[in-house]
Amino acid sequence: MELRKLGNGLLLMPGSPATLIVPTDSGLTLVDPGYPAERARDLVSAISALGGGDVTVVLTHSHSDHVAAVQGLVEAVGAKVLAPRLEVCAAESPELRGAMTFGGRPPRNFIHSLEALPIRVHGSFEAPAEVAGLRAIPTPGHSFGHVSLLAPSDLLYAGDCVFGERLLRSVVVPYHQDYAGALETLRSLEGNADTFRKLVPSHGPVVSGKRVSQLIQANIRALEELPKLAVRVTSGRPMGVEEMAARLLKLGGTPITPSSVILACVTLRSMVAHLLEQGLATPVADERGVRWKLSL
Ligand SMILES: [Zn+2]
Repeated sequence: MELRKLGNGLLLMPGSPATLIVPTDSGLTLVDPGYPAERARDLVSAISALGGGDVTVVLTHSHSDHVAAVQGLVEAVGAKVLAPRLEVCAAESPELRGAMTFGGRPPRNFIHSLEALPIRVHGSFEAPAEVAGLRAIPTPGHSFGHVSLLAPSDLLYAGDCVFGERLLRSVVVPYHQDYAGALETLRSLEGNADTFRKLVPSHGPVVSGKRVSQLIQANIRALEELPKLAVRVTSGRPMGVEEMAARLLKLGGTPITPSSVILACVTLRSMVAHLLEQGLATPVADERGVRWKLSL
């Protein structure tokens, strides 16, 4: 697979997620090896073409699509794996990863079609921190321990705190475990957007110049619109989060599947929690379960 040059020696292996490759004094740092597990073979070829050396893997977070190729790299080149402290347990346990989305242990490989594999993490860090030639910045929201990595020459590997616009449109409800935290992260990135030469979302094209701020703003808008859309689909009556999710997906033209509803519910539950704290949502519990009356 051909590597894309990002300037100043930085390289990107295309994919969803894409993998950032950063030359260091002693070898290479790889951010988010991605999936499937067989992707490790392409990464190993790239590593040997670049001269090898010590290989360090840095993870933005623990999701299965970001970590599937990790174990192959450990076995082939003895890569050392570093993860944000809060992401370590979920990175090492597919069951925990699934439980964060499903609400308990889900059937194996149910939420996504990709096989969720366990990995071994060798060390953790607490952002902000210098990690293997990169600056880890705390960007929680998509997951609680999510970090973005600032590379030399002001390139930001944003991970999943900023999505590409096509993905934003296709999912309608972007996946964030903490809706309010994700918005806070995005607003903070937007405030610094002019300091980033390039921004690399894990899922989407690399952007530079004015497009950095525009992409962050598109992500902010998608989250800011959600409560308004939720009010629209609930039409002023109390509604359970699952029905709210399905109606929002339908409104946005996204297929309603067990997976799309389960993923959307994660963001919506945390959005409803935020609205409750703001006095803008009231829970109603009866034989139909917990339903939420939204009043923006
Ligand atoms: Zn993710």
